[in-house]
Amino acid sequence: MSALLSQEVIEEVRQAADIIAVVSEHLALKRIGTNYQAICPFHAEKTPSFSVNPQKQIFKCFGCGKAGNVFHFLMGIQNISFPEAVKALASRFGISLKDDDTESGYREEQKSLWDLMEWAASYFQQQLSYHPEGLEYFQKRSISPSMIQQFRLGIAPPGWNNLMDAAKNAGFEQESLEKAGLIIKSQQKEKFYDRFRNRVVFPIGNMEGKIIAFGARALSSEDHPKYLNSPETLLFSKSKTLYGWHFAKNSILEQKSLIIMEGYTDVLMAHQYGFNTAVATLGTALTEEHTKIIKRYVSSVILLFDGDSAGQKAADRSIHFFVKEGINVHIVVLPEDLDPCDFLIKYGKDAFQERIERAEDFWDFQIKTIASHHDLTNTSGKRYAIQEISKTISLIPDAISRRLVLNRVGEIFKIPPEILGSQIASLAKNNPGIIAKTESIKEKLQEEDEKFLLWTVLHYPEKIEQIFFRYTINDFRNPGWKDIAKKIYEYWVDYNTVNLASLLSRIDSLVAPELVHLYHANYGIVDDRALDERLNLIFKGLAKEKHLLELAKLKQMLWNVQPMQQEAKTKILQNARHLCRAHIASQKGSTEIESSSTLTFS
Ligand SMILES: [Zn+2]
Repeated sequence: MSALLSQEVIEEVRQAADIIAVVSEHLALKRIGTNYQAICPFHAEKTPSFSVNPQKQIFKCFGCGKAGNVFHFLMGIQNISFPEAVKALASRFGISLKDDDTESGYREEQKSLWDLMEWAASYFQQQLSYHPEGLEYFQKRSISPSMIQQFRLGIAPPGWNNLMDAAKNAGFEQESLEKAGLIIKSQQKEKFYDRFRNRVVFPIGNMEGKIIAFGARALSSEDHPKYLNSPETLLFSKSKTLYGWHFAKNSILEQKSLIIMEGYTDVLMAHQYGFNTAVATLGTALTEEHTKIIKRYVSSVILLFDGDSAGQKAADRSIHFFVKEGINVHIVVLPEDLDPCDFLIKYGKDAFQERIERAEDFWDFQIKTIASHHDLTNTSGKRYAIQEISKTISLIPDAISRRLVLNRVGEIFKIPPEILGSQIASLAKNNPGIIAKTESIKEKLQEEDEKFLLWTVLHYPEKIEQIFFRYTINDFRNPGWKDIAKKIYEYWVDYNTVNLASLLSRIDSLVAPELVHLYHANYGIVDDRALDERLNLIFKGLAKEKHLLELAKLKQMLWNVQPMQQEAKTKILQNARHLCRAHIASQKGSTEIESSSTLTFS
């Protein structure tokens, strides 16, 4: 849907929507010098670390790191998407989004579906008074009346069209009912019937608590499946939704922790016993989208598994998403194959609390699990075990954490961490995505340099041409910086300058805070001379890196050449000589640097 909003319109809205005006509708702003301050709405704090810069039209929290332009503020505070934020501010500041009829149609439709889902939730709730088997079921599962209220549990009565008839009487169209996934078309066309029949119903909310779907459990053992969810609709996407998030959100922010479970009743029971940070996936494994949502709120999570499948789930790909994002994972395995709901009922709050406190670090758990699958007394068993765990370790984004895990694995498998390290390096070679993330000290330096180049173009747009000529977008090794560099360059091509707040609208919302942080980085540059000196140093260093990389490639080619291919060898050696000359020139600061990037390897 965002494709329908042009950059021009987005920029028009951004310029009209003064960030101070918008923020002050939500927070008590206090003027401090040229900036404004407030208590941050995105994390719990007592002294204000949330700052808004009216000149730059950006905000940044020095406590939790949230940052961006006016759109990002509204997205965060109202839990809405980027296009929704643009539209909300457009209507608030009287800008009409022309050529946008399909879009407003879409919004109307979405709104009417929301009304319908809200109505359906109330309908299912009311039905509890007419169908006592619903409350009986909840009582049997020890769910308290206050939880039934809070989570708005209900019942879909037996029969084929109770909900459909009631909805039509309430003025809803059949088409909407179908789009909301509440009714299904039968095989013999034109005949519709209720999706949920004779089931207890658990409404599923979005992050704001608006009802977007239902989960339903069969009351009769003859009905299949036992659990039935709404289908994917305009409102509902399973891979982005976590059950109970809306109720857990404040506690998650306060406690900076999150417990992830697997079922509705698990979450209900956890909240009932005061574990308010519990949420659940909806019958799917954790997805990358889940991880991205979670990362905005916490840096560590606890996963609850029942004993039987724990090992297999810990090896599951979904945990890799956490590893990749640098989120700490702890694992709790419940005994006797009990799920959290049953465990709480059987053993109570304190026993559960104790399990949570004793949650095992993911790596210890993973190492133990893998070790138990292989015979470590012989070499091949060891080799398989190491291969298995190396795959996961190679995903850890930062070098220090990787090192720590390597040491632990080395201890258990009685293998020097260096040897493990090289195993991981060879895995990384087969996966370019990982290479970008493996940071030797040298690469780390380069990444710092790339950051500095971007900092420079943000503060000194007049240097852009010079910088991107010598270090092109494709030279950027860190994919994140590369993407930002590309956006800055495109912006510069369009407008011949760089405006941070405007630029922020063009980049991925998840990356926006990075850019604001980068803008605020302090490199101690006091004047133009200091800047030029630093730039020169960087270009020399970068050229050297580039040349070494190319030299390594040449070496590799030489190695691969068959003994008889004299011609190929000569060509490679020629290239190597060319490279050396270019390198010497670059270190003298000559402009010949550029020629080195045009080496051919045909
Ligand atoms: Zn904050």
